[in-house]
Amino acid sequence: MGWSLRLFLKALGVALGIALLFVLVHPLDLSTSPSRAAPATSALPNITPTATPYSLRVGLVAGHSGGDDPGATCPNGITEAQVNARIARHAARILESIGVKVDMLREFDPLLQGYQALALVSIHADSCQTSPDRSGFKLAVSDALQREGTRQQRARAQRLKECLKTWYQETTHLDFDPYTITRDMREYHAFKEVDPNTPAVIIEVGYLAGDYDLLVNRPAVPARGIALGILCFARTENILLPYPDDSLPTALPTP
Ligand SMILES: [Zn+2]
Repeated sequence: MGWSLRLFLKALGVALGIALLFVLVHPLDLSTSPSRAAPATSALPNITPTATPYSLRVGLVAGHSGGDDPGATCPNGITEAQVNARIARHAARILESIGVKVDMLREFDPLLQGYQALALVSIHADSCQTSPDRSGFKLAVSDALQREGTRQQRARAQRLKECLKTWYQETTHLDFDPYTITRDMREYHAFKEVDPNTPAVIIEVGYLAGDYDLLVNRPAVPARGIALGILCFARTENILLPYPDDSLPTALPTP
């Protein structure tokens, strides 16, 4: 292709990148429902210094990293810890490429205590030692937060979960499996450690049994699903929620 066309496409790419960053830097008001139309007077994005200092920071926990427990283990020696770490690294690279600061955290990272960020996502994978066609991903938010958190804290955690569910499904084509979400997931240790204003979810990215090829050989795909889910949350995308943000029930039905 000619030089001028190539230059034009390059400029277009840069412009799109800047536009995306602009959207991300736009102050995030997560308390308002995204379905509410913005007033006509604010047609132009306006950057103000009121954005919280952690509005562009997210934490990714590579499940089982840095500990003695490697999590699920396959007969060929591949461990869940290795799989989680590769997916987390890919997701971090995608997010960093558009200007998001990513904290890569170990399973029991001391930084989790009072951790403040736009979001925390802990990445785990399900068993290898189950029926070979077992497949699907799961997500959970903190049970305790759903009982004791403020309405806004609950709404933000639910929104993060729904964003991840939507985009992870869209990207990986795995089924969401709401029926085998364990108490361990809903009472995940990091939920009790992070600042209650940091929305946190744990994702089981799939089964090492039935989703082995996706998780082990194509980790960039699940990573992309996670990154897009986080961006959906950061941009308060108008995703389909099971109920409107501002009419959250105080007690959520157990999945
Ligand atoms: Zn695990």
